[in-house]
Amino acid sequence: MARETDKSLKPATLSAQALGWLDPATRAVAPPIHPSTNYARDENYEKFEGRGYTRDENPTYEQLEALLTALEKGADSMVFGSGMAAATTVMLALAPGDHVVAPTVMYFGLRNWLVNVGRHWGLDVDFVPPGDIAALSQAVRPGKTKLVWIETPCNPTWDVTDIAEAARIAHDAGAFLGVDSTVATPVLTNPLQLGADVVMHSGTKYLNGHGDVLAGALVTARKDAMWERMNYLRFENGGMLGAFEAWLLLRGMRTLHLRVERASQSAQRIAEHFSGHDRVAEVLYPGLPAHSGHEVAKHQMTGGFGGMMSIRVKGGASAALATARALRLFVSATSLGGVESLVEHRATVEGADSPVPDDLLRLSVGVEDSGDLIADLERALAGSAP
Ligand code: PLP
Repeated sequence: MARETDKSLKPATLSAQALGWLDPATRAVAPPIHPSTNYARDENYEKFEGRGYTRDENPTYEQLEALLTALEKGADSMVFGSGMAAATTVMLALAPGDHVVAPTVMYFGLRNWLVNVGRHWGLDVDFVPPGDIAALSQAVRPGKTKLVWIETPCNPTWDVTDIAEAARIAHDAGAFLGVDSTVATPVLTNPLQLGADVVMHSGTKYLNGHGDVLAGALVTARKDAMWERMNYLRFENGGMLGAFEAWLLLRGMRTLHLRVERASQSAQRIAEHFSGHDRVAEVLYPGLPAHSGHEVAKHQMTGGFGGMMSIRVKGGASAALATARALRLFVSATSLGGVESLVEHRATVEGADSPVPDDLLRLSVGVEDSGDLIADLERALAGSAP
């Protein structure tokens, strides 16, 4: 049952209660799943409550989308079958010939899409170093640039981009600002409040948090023509989330705040512990004063700096790989934002075109005891010494 959201409630309350909706038919507290793909018309041959077909209309999505809208303080949301389906819907809402500016360091799947699909489709794409506001300002072409895309903190160096500054530059050029906020989550940053036009999440990561759902989402600042176009594309391209996945994602989001707060606290502790460590060349984490994005992150991120960090292991690629292999609690697997900690040698995963240094290990810090995680890293690093 859709209820008016009490604006005075804190985001942690909204997510824990999934907005407090109850099923109108049964007063069930946990929402039902609606697997039906189609909806019968009423006696006047009208769509009942506007629903016809599940590729864009299914009651299972409604509570989830309403919660995302509330957490991001936006005007509307759409869920998708993956983060990539969500992000590429923003790109495809542009027209061939439009100019796009994106960061050189970002989720590599989307960077590959921009190079191999976006350009092929006719987008004119330029890349600028992440977090470099002067370079962004130089790269936009007033009247020609239609989209500025940023990811902050960005994967896997965790450079931070000043969202308000990027919005100002994009808007002055007549462009739209899209933010991949997967790593920051709505717990730590609300890009729409800082001037972004659309925020994107890979729901596969922190929103779900249990490594068992592939999902994506967009939240908009306004229901404008661009948003209508994205809505149309979701329906026509068919990138919709399944009802069961939507239900699982909503269930995961009930503990979003607990998980993100815990992961952020542990990541901060781990980052501080390994800064200056004799086996570590550098710790990349926005919560460290030495990190290039720390000052911006301090005013842009509230309540912590997130659960993602990287370490550069002394001894290069072979020492980094030896460390990854020796870790026991950090599972060597891709992805991020789940309850269990993960480690990944990104240069191996991203291949020859990767801008990622080959001594870098990406760590997704989970919700385990941080002392156990530190001990695991200490032991693995000690074993990697030449
Ligand atoms: N954005 C970021 C920051 C990611 O880490 C990922 C996936 O790793 C994506 C987008 C793509 O999301 P998905 O795998 O759900 O398509």
